[in-house]
Amino acid sequence: MCGIIGYTGTEQAAPILLDGLRKLEYRGYDSAGIAVLYDNALTVCKITGRIANLSEKTEDGKATPGQVGIGHTRWATHGAPTDENAHPHKSNDGRFAVVHNGIIENYQALRAELVEKGYTFESETDTEVVVHLIEMYYEGDVKNAVIRASARLRGSWALGVLCTDCPDTVYVAREASPLILGAGVGENYFASDITALVSYTRNVMYLDDGEFAAVSPAGITIFDGTGRPVEKKLHRITWDVAAAEKGGYEHFMLKEMMEQPRATEATISPRIRDGEVFFEGFALGEEELRSIDKIVITACGSAYYAGCAGKIAIERLCRIPVSVELASELRYADPLIDEHTLLVVLSQSGETADTIAAMKECKARGARTVAVVNVVGSTVAALADHVIYTWAGPEIAVATTKGYTTQLSVLYLLATYLAGKKGSVPRERYDACVAAIRSIPKLIQEAIDLNAAALPRLARKYCDHASMFYIGRNTDYAVSLEGALKMKEISYIHAESYAAGELKHGTIALIEEGQPVVALCCNEDVTEKTVSNIVECKARGAEVLAVTFRDNGRVISQADDVIALPRMETVFSPAVEIVPLQMLAYYVARERGCDIDKPKNLAKSVTVE
Ligand code: GLU
Repeated sequence: MCGIIGYTGTEQAAPILLDGLRKLEYRGYDSAGIAVLYDNALTVCKITGRIANLSEKTEDGKATPGQVGIGHTRWATHGAPTDENAHPHKSNDGRFAVVHNGIIENYQALRAELVEKGYTFESETDTEVVVHLIEMYYEGDVKNAVIRASARLRGSWALGVLCTDCPDTVYVAREASPLILGAGVGENYFASDITALVSYTRNVMYLDDGEFAAVSPAGITIFDGTGRPVEKKLHRITWDVAAAEKGGYEHFMLKEMMEQPRATEATISPRIRDGEVFFEGFALGEEELRSIDKIVITACGSAYYAGCAGKIAIERLCRIPVSVELASELRYADPLIDEHTLLVVLSQSGETADTIAAMKECKARGARTVAVVNVVGSTVAALADHVIYTWAGPEIAVATTKGYTTQLSVLYLLATYLAGKKGSVPRERYDACVAAIRSIPKLIQEAIDLNAAALPRLARKYCDHASMFYIGRNTDYAVSLEGALKMKEISYIHAESYAAGELKHGTIALIEEGQPVVALCCNEDVTEKTVSNIVECKARGAEVLAVTFRDNGRVISQADDVIALPRMETVFSPAVEIVPLQMLAYYVARERGCDIDKPKNLAKSVTVE
């Protein structure tokens, strides 16, 4: 999830590794470390906090001789950000050191197996199983050991592996986590991100999922899971450093929107095993569940809107009353909360001041708490009885995108989990929900592909308006709240979201010739009703941009423009429906020349009241 850098050549490795890690700092991380091989021995140096601390500890790398090494910035997923949990991790025999980006989903079973075989663990990370597996499979051939160990893993990984028996070669592996090989002259590199490479080489090769490489000063050999060589094309990077940080995208927001299929996959796939939803370390017993008579969701901003969409899913599937409360209101509301309340707290950073205060208030009244956060070890995570991490990876653009869709993914998993425990849905419905959640990443990708060409054109058409309305019902209404917020946050166009049925109770007075109305129409239960509202708006001169299924002729025939979506399960549709609305806001803001990644007056993590 965070950063990897590796070097082998004729220079001292540590200063190059530290420099590479500095280039990766912008992504955010909680700890960092390097391992260097010298005289057939490994030196590992790792520390919580800034690269500057690591630099100081190693005298800018000068204190660690050796011409081959690996470096890592960690964004903790398993285990708190501590020195012990920082990478690299070493094997018990001291022969191997490993850095890893990603998540090993089956680490618990592997850890149990390795402990049984006598291996000892020094960290709480999922990663540490990898280094012990490599040691276990090592019979004198590192390549073979890395292949065999990787075959045991499930999840996502970019790995860098050092071995004292190979004084100049680093082995790497990739599955669903970026890894780029950098080719030099008499020296070679690898990194998780081009940023760390561009000042050393612009000749790169992209490792694909399921591939491995042996990187030595003499060359890079790439091979597949059977050990057979793979041919790769060398690409020449022409990006400047700023563009490289963004993976070639113009803005972090665009990059992060495009990461949503992968981010939601990382959130969802580890939580579904053999057709059942489960949360690691989360045991809401049946007894405890029976005593819960209501669920309160609390959050701020986009997370609050994720809660609004989550409420619909939980109520539909679990038949438990859910209320969604703004944390800044809840904290002063003298809330009706007791030990029969399950409080679900949403916060990307886990440091949102109002959310923390509301949570403390509710805990003091006896509520059981589940936190949905992205940052391991954050305050909200520490305060909660149970934590479900979103595992979206660092989000840099101030306006959230993958933070929202991964929070929604967790809420949908939670709704299905609770429904399963409560027995509130028949088995077939449960299975259908699991399958529908499983398909969210793929549907997001389809939604992106279907609209990528049209959205810049639509943005040009709508970018000069002073205000926009977003209308919808039920799930469509819930997602319209977030769609309108995105538009406000980054384009500064006044965007209002209305429950479509509320139009007649006031808002329709504001609809006049040329007024843009974004009409969300993916909820089949109420399509007829929303179509009537579209017609009412059109009769008053509105320009209607409909968001609907690509084959929904009834809606399309009434609209001026269409954002087309693949068909999907209604109750979970907001996770997909939001994506083209984020893109619309993005392209409108771009047309208007706004500072998209850092909108005026906004901060990423709101740590003040
Ligand atoms: N899952 C690993 C850990 O928590 C790696 C995290 C990362 O990619 O930085 O240590």
